[in-house]
Amino acid sequence: MLKNAYHPQGEALLWEQFLEHLERTLRVTNLHPATVEYLSHPKRVVGVPVPVTMDDGTVRFFMGYRVIHDISLGPSKGGVRFHPSVSLGGTLGLAALMTLKSAVYGLPYGGAAGGVVVDPKSVSRREIERLSRRYTAELVSLIGPDEDILGPDLGTDARVMAWIMDTFSMNKGQTVPGVVTGKPPSLGGSASRVDSAGRGLVYVLQEMARKHGMPIKGARVAVQGFGQVGKAVAQAASAEGLKVIAVSTSRGGVYHREGLDMKALEAYHGREGHFLGFPWATEITNAELLSLDVDYLVPAALENVLTKENVSSVRAKMVLEGANGATAPEAEDALLSRGVVVVPDIVANGGGLVVSYLEWVQDLAMFFFEESEVQARLKDSVTRALEATLAKSQGLNTSLRMGAYALALERVNLAARLRGVYP
Ligand code: NAD
Repeated sequence: MLKNAYHPQGEALLWEQFLEHLERTLRVTNLHPATVEYLSHPKRVVGVPVPVTMDDGTVRFFMGYRVIHDISLGPSKGGVRFHPSVSLGGTLGLAALMTLKSAVYGLPYGGAAGGVVVDPKSVSRREIERLSRRYTAELVSLIGPDEDILGPDLGTDARVMAWIMDTFSMNKGQTVPGVVTGKPPSLGGSASRVDSAGRGLVYVLQEMARKHGMPIKGARVAVQGFGQVGKAVAQAASAEGLKVIAVSTSRGGVYHREGLDMKALEAYHGREGHFLGFPWATEITNAELLSLDVDYLVPAALENVLTKENVSSVRAKMVLEGANGATAPEAEDALLSRGVVVVPDIVANGGGLVVSYLEWVQDLAMFFFEESEVQARLKDSVTRALEATLAKSQGLNTSLRMGAYALALERVNLAARLRGVYP
């Protein structure tokens, strides 16, 4: 029997959760009914089957998506995910989170997201290159630095961004670096893009720790996922004097109660791609990592890892969402009722978007900033977004997530009302 390639019934949880949060936000702030309609009807939903000639000469089809959620604040911006769990519903949800994140950070972007249903570990590098290029070619008339700007996400990296940029440029007949962010610096990428989401999260952690009188030096942190976000969180946290006591990949994690040696972790992960057999720590499962007795827990892999089923085992005092949608709404309610601080994705991991914005600005101007300038702007943006979120949450006497949603949605509402409805 032929497989249903479109995954219409695939994971729609993230989109449904966005709608649930939108409804909850309407209880604490006023949005124009037309804005609510805009936000619950994504602007553009594209499905592209991506044919790829495999190394053995056979042709395989991979299903790809690109969703633009909203463009009230500017051209849309969003990551490209290569993962077996990619679905239309999940992509809708990620695109909506990007609309909110841009607005919380005061950036001139709408929200988008895309992805391809593929396990990058099960195909060769040449196959991933052909897949990345064909996916881009299918979208060429819909993306661009003034329309829709792509970036890295789960399963994609600077190498993939370089292929996307090159394919788009070849089709346009000119080099267009601004169509993607997260490129290698030699192709117009920004200094510090790779670790910006993780570094930004650790700035948020430090600010939140100060406000709650929690420790920083010597405090224990566990990080799920050791990719672009998780690895940078672990590195920045360790550089700031926190004890990173556990890290993991999809294959499991490692734990040491006195803190893991970051250099040894990086070297081992660089060589093996996972932590199985890492000699200087105890192996743990991802479920065990989430329930460690820590000050700070940073889920930085997949969405919905903290659920109503496992939330009672969480012992962290603060959860900072490195991954988008890491905490299911019921799990967040349970954590908040126990006094656990939850810093939502659209605030906690926005550093990646800030440096993407700086990269895009540099590409448009063909004028590049020094790393110190990028770092200073990143810290400043993170601090401002966090302060604005805290002020909004306190003003409305609500959670940080609801405060961030209210802040973002009021900004989108204002822009949408000023633009009006075309024609
Ligand atoms: P990545 O592909 O670089 O790394 C993902 C990591 O998670 C890997 O270490 C992988 O082994 C691990 N992982 C995968 N499945 C897992 C599982 N089932 N259990 C435990 N670990 C698992 O991805 P990334 O870019 O770091 O993205 C991670 C999350 O952060 C995603 O939610 C993404 O949307 C979000 N995010 C990414 C960026 C960015 O710039 N890359 C920015 C903001 C938010």
